[in-house]
Amino acid sequence: MQILKGIPVAAGIAIARPFLLEREGLYCPLRRSLSDAEVERDVTAFKEAIAKTAAGIRRTKEKLERRVGKGHGAILDAHLMILKDPLFVGETIAQSRREHVNVGWAFYQTMQKFAQLVASVGDAYLRERTNDVEDVGWQVLKNLTGSDKRTLDNLKEPVVVIADDLTPSETSDIPRDRVVGFATLTGSRTSHTAIIAQALEIPALVGVAALRDVAVGEGLVILDGTGGVLILDPDEATLEEYRRRQRMSVQRRKDLRKLAVLKTETSDGHVVSLFANLELPIEVPAALKGGAEGIGLFRTEFLFLNRDTIPDEDEQYQWYRKVVEQMAPRPVVIRTLDVGGDKFLKSAGEAREMNPFLGLRGIRLSLAHRDLFRAQLRAILRASVYGKVEVMFPLISSVEEFRQARGAFEDAMVELRSERAKFDETIPVGAMIETPSAAIVADLLAKEAKFFSIGSNDLIQYAIAVDRGNQGASYLYQPLHPAILRLMRMVIDMAHAAGIEVTVCGEIAADPLAGALLLGLGVDALSVSPVSLIEAKRLIRSTSYVEARTVAQEALTLPTAQTVREVVLSRLGSRVAAAS
Ligand code: PEP
Ligand code: MG
Repeated sequence: MQILKGIPVAAGIAIARPFLLEREGLYCPLRRSLSDAEVERDVTAFKEAIAKTAAGIRRTKEKLERRVGKGHGAILDAHLMILKDPLFVGETIAQSRREHVNVGWAFYQTMQKFAQLVASVGDAYLRERTNDVEDVGWQVLKNLTGSDKRTLDNLKEPVVVIADDLTPSETSDIPRDRVVGFATLTGSRTSHTAIIAQALEIPALVGVAALRDVAVGEGLVILDGTGGVLILDPDEATLEEYRRRQRMSVQRRKDLRKLAVLKTETSDGHVVSLFANLELPIEVPAALKGGAEGIGLFRTEFLFLNRDTIPDEDEQYQWYRKVVEQMAPRPVVIRTLDVGGDKFLKSAGEAREMNPFLGLRGIRLSLAHRDLFRAQLRAILRASVYGKVEVMFPLISSVEEFRQARGAFEDAMVELRSERAKFDETIPVGAMIETPSAAIVADLLAKEAKFFSIGSNDLIQYAIAVDRGNQGASYLYQPLHPAILRLMRMVIDMAHAAGIEVTVCGEIAADPLAGALLLGLGVDALSVSPVSLIEAKRLIRSTSYVEARTVAQEALTLPTAQTVREVVLSRLGSRVAAAS
C-alpha cells in the first residue's frame, strides 16, 4: 500500500482500478509496472519509434538541403547521432527490463540524465546541445505514445484515471459513467480541470507530484477527493474504512440535496437570495441542481484563458447565450473581463508589470483596450434577449471609472440600436466593490450603480495590503478582520440608504462563520460556487436573523479577527461550527 498526497479539488471518494492515460505531447510519461512479456512488447515499440524518428529527421534534412543547399542539414546529423547513442537507447531498454517499467518512463529518465550530463560540461557549445537532446527525445516520445494510444472510449469497467495533466476539453469529454475519479500529476486548485471536475461531481486530485516516480500497478486504488490522498494497492482494513466513508458521503449528499428545493430564508423567516458563481457554462447544471436562484457572478475571463486567441464577439455571444438561456428566467450577472492580477491573456501582449494586482487589471484593462471591451459588451447585450441579464464591472476604484465603463456600455447599446439588433434595454449595470476606495465612496457610487457586488477576495487583499495568493503572508489574510467587517457594514448601509441591493460573491460568502455575520450585517444575497450552495442554504436556514444581527453588532465592536471568531462561535454555536 502506498499513500500519495495531492491537492483535493472535487469532493468524494472513488474506489476502482487505475487507468493510466498517456497521450501525444504529454508532459511526462507516468511510471507503469509491466510483466516480462509487456516489457518486450514495449521494447519493440520503442525501437520502432526510434526508427520512425530517424526516418522523419532524414526527410527533414533532405527537404532543408533541397531548399537552402547542401551542408545546411548538418545540424540534423547531430540529431541522428543522438538517436544512435548507446546511453540514449541502450540504457533505456536496460532500465525498463531491470525494473519492469514502461519504456516511455525509462526513456524520459534517460532524457533527463542525458540533458543534465551535456549541460554540466563546461563547454558553451555543448551546453547548447541540451536543446537538441530534448527536441529529439520529445519526437521519440511522441512516436512511442502515438503507437500505443490508450483511450477512454472503450473502457469496460469503472476506472480512476491517472494522467500527467488533463486539458479542459479532455475533462469535459470524460465518460461520466465509467470514470469515477481522476488524479493528475500537475494542476492547481483554480485550474479549469479542477472547476470542471467539481461541475461534473467527479472526485478529483491534482498536483500529485509523487506520480512522477511511483509505479502504478493494476491493483485497486482509492482516491479521496476530500482528504487529498491517492492510495495505491490499499490493504483490506483501509479499503473497508474508505468504503464506509464512501457510503456516508453518498448518503450525506442525498440528504443535503433535499434542501435545494427549499426557500432560502432564515429560521425566523428573513428571505435572502442564494446565487451561484460560475466560471464556465459547463457548471450550469451543477448550479441548478444545487438550487441556485441565479448566477451572481459569471467570471467571463475563463473563456479567454488557456487559449492563444481572444474569442470574438460571436463566440462570446454563443457562450453567454447558452448560460442565459439555461438559467432563464433566473438572473445571470455577467462580470466583464477581469484579467491582469494573476490571470493573463496569452494573446493580448500585455506588458509585464511590477505590481500586476495594482496595475492594468479588471475594468482598467477593458478601458485601455476599447475594442476588446466593445466586443464583450455587444456580446452580452445580444445575449440578453434570451433571459435576464445584469452586467457588472470588476475592480471599480472611483465614480469616474464607473461612469466611463457605463458610458462604453451605452455606446454599445447605441450601436446595436442603429443596427436594429435586439437586446434588453433595461439591463441593470452594477459595480463590484473590491477596492477600499470604492467602499469608502459607496454612497456616491450607489447613486449611479443599480446594484453592488462585494468581491471580498479582492477587498480583503487591498484593504489589508496582503496578496491573496501569497502563502508566506497568508496569516494576514483575515476575512473576519475588524476593518473588513466595518467596510462591509459601510457598503451595505450606504447601498440600502440609496435603495440598491448588495450581494457578496467572494469566498467569504461560503464560509459558515463569515456567512452568518454577513446575514447579520444585512446583505441581500450570497453568491457561492455550485458545490457550496447546499451548505450555504443549510447555514442560512438554521440561523436566526434576529440573533445574527445582534452578533454582527457585537462583532463590529471587537478588536481582532480572533475575538470575532470566538464570539460568533460562542453565540451561534453548534450551527456554524457544524458547517465549518
Ligand atoms: C472577489 O474578488 O471576491 C471576486 C469574487 O472576484 P475574483 O475572485 O474573481 O477576483
Ligand atoms: Mg475580484
